[in-house]
Amino acid sequence: MNTSSQEPRLFIVAAPSGAGKSSLVNALLLREPGISLSISHTTRPPRVGEEYGRHYYFVERQAFEQEIADGIFLEHAVVHGNLYGTSCRTVDALLAQGRDVLLEIDWQGAAQVRRNHPDCVSIFILPPSRPELERRLRGRASDSEEVIAKRLFNSREEISHAPEFDHVVVNDHFDEALEQLQTIVQAARGRQPLQLPRHETLIEDLLA
Ligand code: GDP
Ligand code: ADP
Ligand code: 5GP
Repeated sequence: MNTSSQEPRLFIVAAPSGAGKSSLVNALLLREPGISLSISHTTRPPRVGEEYGRHYYFVERQAFEQEIADGIFLEHAVVHGNLYGTSCRTVDALLAQGRDVLLEIDWQGAAQVRRNHPDCVSIFILPPSRPELERRLRGRASDSEEVIAKRLFNSREEISHAPEFDHVVVNDHFDEALEQLQTIVQAARGRQPLQLPRHETLIEDLLA
C-alpha cells in the first residue's frame, strides 16, 4: 500500500530490449511492496518460463484486435512486430485501491499514457554502451537470433525517445541503478524535486 498520504502514483519504465528493465523493476517491486506492476496483454509468444497472467496476458492477434475495437486499452502499440497493450481496467482498479502502479511499456505507449495521466512519472533505462546491450540480449538466451537482431535494430528508435522521459537511469552497475530507481520513486511519492543528470552524451554515443 502507498503509505504516504499522497494520491497513488503512476510510474512508467521504458528501455530498449535487453537494458535490464524487467530485472530492475522486479528488484524494485521487492523493495517497494506498495507498487503493483500492471500486467500487459501481448500477441508475442511466451518465452520459456513465462506464465499467463504473471508475465503477460498472452492472446491471439485476432482477440487483441477485438479488444482494441472494444476500447479496453489505456494504450497499445506495435513493438518488435507484436501488439502490446495496457488495459484501463487493470490500472484503474489498482489506482482506486490506493496502490501505486508501474507500467513497463515502450515509448509509444508512454506517449499515450502521458495524455491521460499527465501526473505520471516516467523513467527511461539506458544500457551503459551498445556492445553491453548486445551482450545482455544474447546472454538472456531467450530469443532467436532473428528476434535479437530486430530488437538491436529497434533499440535506436527507442533510445532516441529517452529525452521525453522525466528521468534517465543508466543500468551499468545493477545495484546502483536500482538505488537510483528507488530514489526516484520515493521522491515522486514525497513530491520532492529531483534533478538527475540528463545523459545527453551517452544517448548521442548510443545513437552514433
Ligand atoms: P523485454 O521487455 O525487452 O524483455 O521484451 P518484451 O517482449 O517483454 O517487451 C517488448 C517491448 O514491448 C518492451 O520494450 C516494452 O516496453 C513493450 N511493452 C510491453 N508491454 C507493453 C504494453 O502494455 N504496452 C506497450 N505499449 N508496450 C509494451
Ligand atoms: P529488459 O527487460 O530490458 O529486456 P532484462 O531485465 O531481461 O532486460 O535484462 C536483460 C539481461 O541483462 C538479463 O539476462 C539480465 O540478467 C541482464 N542484466 C540486467 N541488468 C544488468 C546489469 N546491470 N549488469 C549485467 N547484466 C544485467
Ligand atoms: P518483451 O517482449 O521482451 O517482454 O518486451 C518487448 C517490449 O515491449 C519491451 O520494450 C516492453 O517494455 C514492451 N511492452 C511490454 N508490455 C507493453 C505494453 O503493455 N505496452 C507497450 N506499449 N509496450 C509494452
